[in-house]
Amino acid sequence: MRLDAKIPAGPLPQKWDLHRFETKLVNPANKRKYDIIVVGTGLAGASASASLAELGYNVKTFCIHDSPRRAHSIAAQGGINAATNYPNDGDSIWRLFYDTVKGGDFRSREANVYRLAQVSNAIIDQCVAQGVPFAREYGGLLANRSFGGAQLSRTFYARGQTGQQLLLGAYSALMRQVAAGKVKMFPRREMLDIVVANGQARGIVTRNLVSGELERHAGHAVLLCTGGYGNVYFLSTNAKACNVTATYRAYKRGAFFANPCFTQIHPTCIPVHGTYQSKLTLMSESLRNDGRVWVPKNAGDKRPPSQIPESERDYFLERKYPSFGNLVPRDVASRNSKEQCDQGKGVGATGLAVYLDFADAITRDGRASIEKKYGNLFQMYDKISGQDPYQTPMMIYPAVHYTMGGLWVDYNLMSTLDGLFVLGEANFSDHGANRLGASALMQGLADGYFVIPYTIGGYLAGTRFEAAGTDHAAFGDTERQVRDQVQKLLAVRGKRTVDDFHRRLGLIMWDYCGMSRNNAGLEKARTLIQELRAEFWKNVLVPGTEADLNQSLEKAGRVADFLEFGELMVIDALARQESCGGHFNEAYQTEENEARRDDANFCHAAAWEFAGDGKDPNFHKEPLVFENVHLTQRSYK
Ligand SMILES: Cc1cc2nc3c(=O)[nH]c(=O)nc-3n(C[C@H](O)[C@H](O)[C@H](O)COP(=O)(O)OP(=O)(O)OC[C@H]3O[C@@H](n4cnc5c(N)ncnc54)[C@H](O)[C@@H]3O)c2cc1C
Repeated sequence: MRLDAKIPAGPLPQKWDLHRFETKLVNPANKRKYDIIVVGTGLAGASASASLAELGYNVKTFCIHDSPRRAHSIAAQGGINAATNYPNDGDSIWRLFYDTVKGGDFRSREANVYRLAQVSNAIIDQCVAQGVPFAREYGGLLANRSFGGAQLSRTFYARGQTGQQLLLGAYSALMRQVAAGKVKMFPRREMLDIVVANGQARGIVTRNLVSGELERHAGHAVLLCTGGYGNVYFLSTNAKACNVTATYRAYKRGAFFANPCFTQIHPTCIPVHGTYQSKLTLMSESLRNDGRVWVPKNAGDKRPPSQIPESERDYFLERKYPSFGNLVPRDVASRNSKEQCDQGKGVGATGLAVYLDFADAITRDGRASIEKKYGNLFQMYDKISGQDPYQTPMMIYPAVHYTMGGLWVDYNLMSTLDGLFVLGEANFSDHGANRLGASALMQGLADGYFVIPYTIGGYLAGTRFEAAGTDHAAFGDTERQVRDQVQKLLAVRGKRTVDDFHRRLGLIMWDYCGMSRNNAGLEKARTLIQELRAEFWKNVLVPGTEADLNQSLEKAGRVADFLEFGELMVIDALARQESCGGHFNEAYQTEENEARRDDANFCHAAAWEFAGDGKDPNFHKEPLVFENVHLTQRSYK
């Protein structure tokens, strides 16, 4: 199968306009004849559901949680990018586009990234109109701060709670449509499979997480807005319920999975502190606007930070990258922190931490100013670590945070399965091999508010639909397969808990397919994952029954998918014999230990096709063509 990204013709700045003009429209009176299924209520799903219902489509929206507001987007802290250029410091749509392509180490699609930058300003207007309380300057204009990989300020924020405020805005728009009867909301439902009838995605099978009942839902198109898969590592900054099940099961039904090995490891997280920890906490990148990252110059220096004089500190990011300093992109900052710790300069009890120090900023701007910008983050750090960051530097270490990989989609956000659209973190995204801070919220809302409302119309208007209600044979078959899997999990009755398997898988992934990778380690990981998966199906213990609320059963299904998906990540990492962004293969680095790309052989998105259980997936590639941006070795010096 040849992957067709359906990138419109024409000059880059006009592609989206021309495409919208050429895309077929659905007449307003006909929109009510179409049923659209939206899985997920994070920023991508909530914005899509609200926008589609507002247009007149009948929308059915699903989420795992008891309320749409609990989607993981609520946790986003630092901000959302847009190219408004309010601070007048040199921004433009072109610069946001360029920074994003470069930040992603030239592994994203030019046309998509340009569109993202183009609609970014409209997102801010939309959110302000909804009442999102962005921070403001004294004169009333919305305030901006800086994020990694940019030399200007284009990040809009609401203290350290930007995701929460944006989601409340999208949620209000969604609930308005629930009240209007255009969205039917299904909380506490887990989508366990896609139903494919006549080659088209025509529905889903869900499990009611309270009653255990399996349910069928039919529609003319399905939108997956189910977030990222960072929890394959067990420990991550993601909410505990984040998982790969929806996208992985769609992959097994024919949607290609792109760049699964592209994982973002965020440099500023609270370090791991115990074997039985189940969650890691992010300290927003915005903190690097004012916090300075350092380690002692001498390996093994265990003095408390207050006793290490200035002359014996190494502000290694400022030293190595004078232009961007502490605001280098995440992949660069993470690798550098790891390098310092590997050299024995790490701080804290484990030696796996570096300092993020606000002393200079507090002296310069005063405590009140720092508190105003980051108060909730400082409080969170204090509560978790027992240390007051106003008095002593924070200790931070890289942790799994975001996944750039996801289901492959074309310019219209449609996967390789007809009628299956994928939005937000769940798709393989516009971020290439590394996402710049504050770009995920932008992408999720761009997809939901400003892209899908147009592109889905083109699909619906141009497609012939045969009857495929819930009585169609495809629904019966899919439901039977889901039931079999649920019963198989319960029937094992082994001795090891689901979390035990998940924790072990996470360690394998972190050690061999994490911040730094090598071929021998990846090969080893493949074997270890296969062995662990075999043991899982012989020895997992899932107590309780299927006909009830059963969180062990929910987790078991997700971990079973992670155990297969982890191997796909490793296969993808092995196939990409270069380093780029978050994918760092030790064999491919510059003399200064930066990622060394191989544009001649790997300037593509890798898209994997499921070939059957126990078989290696088929490889497809979408060549990435750069007509507007010159491919260079990324430099932040
Ligand atoms: C701690 C933290 C802070 C962050 N801060 C920022 C930031 O400041 N700026 C930024 O740009 N990005 C940030 N990010 C990234 C950003 O928050 C996410 O990428 C983004 O919110 C993802 O939105 P989404 O709508 O794609 O998915 P999510 O918000 O993850 O929503 C997924 C939805 O899918 C549902 N779901 C999942 N699986 C199923 C299933 N099988 N069946 C039914 N429903 C399902 C869930 O219930 C949920 O409603 C941060 C991430 C983290 C972890």
